[in-house]
Order: sequence, then C-alpha cells, then structure tokens
Amino acid sequence: MSKPSILVIGAGIFGLWQAYALARAGYSVRLIEEGSDPFARSSSRWAGAMIAPECEAEGAPLSVRDLGREGLRIWRETYPGLMSNGTLVVAHARDAGDLARFAKMTEGHAAVGGARIGELEPSIAGRFERGLFFESEAHMDARKAMTWLLDELRSLGADVAFDTHWDGAAHDIAIDCRGIGARQDLATLRGVRGERVLIQTNDVSLSRPVRLLHPRQPIYVVPQGDNRFVVGATVIEREDAGPMSLRSALDLLGSAYALHPAFGEAAVLDMGAGVRPAFPDNVPRIIVEEAGAIIRVNGAYRHGFLLAPVMAQALAAYVSDGRREGPLFDAV
Ligand SMILES: Cc1cc2nc3c(=O)[nH]c(=O)nc-3n(C[C@H](O)[C@H](O)[C@H](O)COP(=O)(O)OP(=O)(O)OC[C@H]3O[C@@H](n4cnc5c(N)ncnc54)[C@H](O)[C@@H]3O)c2cc1C
Repeated sequence: MSKPSILVIGAGIFGLWQAYALARAGYSVRLIEEGSDPFARSSSRWAGAMIAPECEAEGAPLSVRDLGREGLRIWRETYPGLMSNGTLVVAHARDAGDLARFAKMTEGHAAVGGARIGELEPSIAGRFERGLFFESEAHMDARKAMTWLLDELRSLGADVAFDTHWDGAAHDIAIDCRGIGARQDLATLRGVRGERVLIQTNDVSLSRPVRLLHPRQPIYVVPQGDNRFVVGATVIEREDAGPMSLRSALDLLGSAYALHPAFGEAAVLDMGAGVRPAFPDNVPRIIVEEAGAIIRVNGAYRHGFLLAPVMAQALAAYVSDGRREGPLFDAV
C-alpha cells in the first residue's frame, strides 16, 4: 500500500519538525504557511530557544522534563547548530532563598561558587557568590534553527508554500500546527503572551544562557552569536501579540542591567511579543480527529523548541503504525 500524502499547516517550530520527521520517514509532505515572510507570523520566532528540560522542571509538570530530556537528545543528534554549553542560574545574595528553592525543584545541577561562576562566564566574574550549573542543557538561535529545518525539508523533496492559507480543506492526512491560529477548533487552547528584547554589545560575552532569579522579575539572557543576546522572561495570561509595554521593557532591560551594568550601553535591535499556545495543564498534545484525517499538534506553551522533536517522533510513529504512546495523546 502506498504511503498517505501529508499536509502540514503552519511553519512554526512544531510544523517544521512534523514536516521534517515525516519527510525523513519517506512520506510525501507539503508544508503550508499563511505568512509570506518565513516565520514572521509565528510565535516561534520570538523564542530564546533554550533546550532546558532540567530548569523547566522548576515550574512545569515532570512529564515536560522527561519528554524534554528526550527532546534534547534528538536535537543533539540532529541539529549541528545546537550550542551545548549548559545553563547557569544565579541570584544576588539577598535572593538566596530563590536559589535554594530552584535547586530543590530541579535535578542535574551542580552548586557553584563565585570562583566557578567566573570561570564559566568571565564577563560576570565577581558579581555573584552562588549559582547552579546545569551542564547537560543547550540552546540555539531560533531563527537559524528554523531556517535549517526548512532547508533540510526542501532537500528531502518536500513541497513548501508560503502565503498559503488553510481553510480546513481535507487531505489524506492534515497535520494542524497553527499554534494559536487553531483556537476556534480547540476549545481549551489559550494564548499566553511572552515578551523579549534583542540587544547587542561587545562589552559582555556569555557562552550559555544565564538565568537571574529574582522574586518579582526573574529573567534569562541567551547569547545568540554576533554579540547578540535575547533577554526575556514574561509570562502574561493574555492573548495579545501587540507591541511591548513600557513597563515590560523597563523590567527586562533593568534586569539585564542588574546582571551586568555593561548591558546599559547595548544597542536594542528588536523588541516584541509572541503568543504561546497552551492547554490548561501547559503540556502539549497530539489530538487525532475525524478518523485520523486531521491531527492537531498544539499547546507548546513555553516548550515549543524543547518538545517539538518529541512531538514529531510520536506523531511519525502514529502515522506509520497507529501507535499512540505516552502522555502526548492523553485527552486535554
Ligand atoms: C518570548 C518567548 C520566549 C520563548 N522561549 C522558549 C524557549 O527558550 N524554549 C522553548 O522551548 N520554547 C520557548 N518559547 C515557546 C515557543 O516559542 C512556542 O511554544 C512555540 O513557538 C509555539 O510553536 P508553534 O509551532 O506551535 O506555533 P507558531 O510558532 O505560532 O506557528 C504557527 C504558524 O501557523 C501559521 N498559521 C496559522 N493559521 C494558519 C492557517 N490557517 N493557514 C496557514 N498557516 C497558518 C502561523 O502564521 C504561524 O506561522 C518562547 C516563546 C516566547 C513568546
């Protein structure tokens, strides 16, 4: 029997990984995206793209950590651009309680003192006395990773069409990865706003994401190459992808300045917000509808990059032999 032809809708990180995994498995794949500029309409383009299953366990269900460990393994064996330098979590002395709590909620870290922090990140030497080093974690430049997946997809012979809107039309199998664009068809899906600033400076150099804990305004700073850094943090229960508020900009940039005053001279290259699609428990799902003809892959929340390869692997197994393994297929 010939393999079914597959339509993937949405060129965010979920759609790209679904299409890539299925094209690699020998299916005929067409990927469509309604935006004309690749990724411009996706929430994925805003991501810090940390592949941090251990750190995420601080606030996410343990299933996310366990699936995320597998996600990290797949990224590592697939994507040559992955930067595997770990994550450093630090706090000012007055916030030692936040650091202790973070350590209790997570695994896979080593407690580090000021000297080791200075060895790991010379730019912030002397600024923090205590931290946690999560050696196994990784990160990437979101846009570069998405471009790489797109190029791979094309070289595997997939048909990719931008500026192409899906109106629900049937296909052998349609895999709906529209993110928040699928809200009309997924009653429990909600949008969670996340804001981030992209800055550039020659005066600070980091090799890995640094998370600065703070009771009110924790942030992460993710190095992206070319002296660029993504600064982000916000999780706002609002479905609004509009421009960043002045308060958020002050908070994010103020916290970056607290991490290192040299960020005060950085150029602000870009700032904005994306809407993360999320189910009530903030765990993504694969939802098979209409006798398998429409499959919805959604609910990435803060973990789209972390979990995209695992979602793709699970769906490829389902498409090939009907296996529905693990929590990803549970009812929402
Ligand atoms: C500030 C911020 C930081 C983040 N940091 C991280 C991180 O460090 N690590 C991590 O793992 N995750 C992170 N995330 C989360 C991650 O970015 C999201 O979970 C993920 O991007 C969601 O991907 P998606 O593919 O489901 O949706 P999207 O990226 O939104 O893609 C959906 C696509 O579908 C298209 N579409 C919609 N409707 C249609 C239609 N009818 N026809 C055709 N196309 C359509 C849209 O145009 C869009 O391009 C972050 C998110 C934000 C906002």
